[in-house]
Amino acid sequence: MADQWNNLRDARFLLDEDTRPLNPVPPVILTTPAAMRRWRSANSGSVGFVPTMGYLHEGHMDLVRRSIDENLLTVVSIFVNPTQFAPDEDFSRYPRDEVRDLAQLSAAGVDAVYLPGATDMYPEGYQTYVEVEQVTRPLEGARRPGHFRGVTTVVLKLFNAVGPDRAYFGRKDAQQLRVIQRMVRDLDLGVEVVPCDIVRETDGLAMSSRNVYLSPEQRTAATVLKRALDDTRRRWAEGERDADTLRAAVSRLIDAEPLAELDYVSLADDESLQELEGTAVRPAILSMVVKFGKTRLLDNIELA
Ligand code: AMP
Repeated sequence: MADQWNNLRDARFLLDEDTRPLNPVPPVILTTPAAMRRWRSANSGSVGFVPTMGYLHEGHMDLVRRSIDENLLTVVSIFVNPTQFAPDEDFSRYPRDEVRDLAQLSAAGVDAVYLPGATDMYPEGYQTYVEVEQVTRPLEGARRPGHFRGVTTVVLKLFNAVGPDRAYFGRKDAQQLRVIQRMVRDLDLGVEVVPCDIVRETDGLAMSSRNVYLSPEQRTAATVLKRALDDTRRRWAEGERDADTLRAAVSRLIDAEPLAELDYVSLADDESLQELEGTAVRPAILSMVVKFGKTRLLDNIELA
């Protein structure tokens, strides 16, 4: 039976795109690091991996589809990682909908879903963490102490279990992407990190599992982030390079929206994320966090 199952799954990849079955075989679900590793050892061929915290939206599914296009097999993990949340953050109320997530992943044709439990990932006595240095310090790292230590630790653990050839990360979490790229290089992980563009709602708001926290009024007001980024892009295209001027223009636009509170706006070197002063050099990244009540929304634009 196991062989038949595997043959059936492999057969999907021998078919032309147009003749792939409409109802793909449901993904295998693995719930422990050991089971995940066994699956990986039993399956050869390139593996693409999409780590997520679930409550999937089109931003996640875009990463998933890219992985399916570029690899023989695709693994998606769903794990709300407790070590990347500070005690006063939203870990316990983070939105979850496993049934809907699995239905979406199944319809997309994902091969395996890794759903480890918190005690499988962090059993009693757990005491090992990964710390990336400089690039974790500014921006989110300065506001969320310990956040990136949780992120890098869990991503390394997920990589160890999944054994991916490629891993897909969104440009929406720009600092996270750069931190992971640094860890992969520094620790010789041999995983190709594939950055994916930000997927937005039709009114420009970057998709995020946390958008569900917004009231209807906050949701409408939240379009101000994209307007501020578009304004930055226009100024940059017109030749504006003064770092303070670019940051101040964003501040003014956000301040003009009564429901929005600017947490920070940054114009930084695109790789190191060191803040730029005076005349900005290329490539740069303008990023911001805007708060609507307790909800922090993150967005950014790369300026090449
Ligand atoms: P999360 O579930 O929030 O941890 O996100 C999982 C992955 O999806 C991360 O690599 C995110 O950067 C990526 N992602 C989340 N939202 C978006 C989006 N709107 N566009 C592109 N990627 C996204």
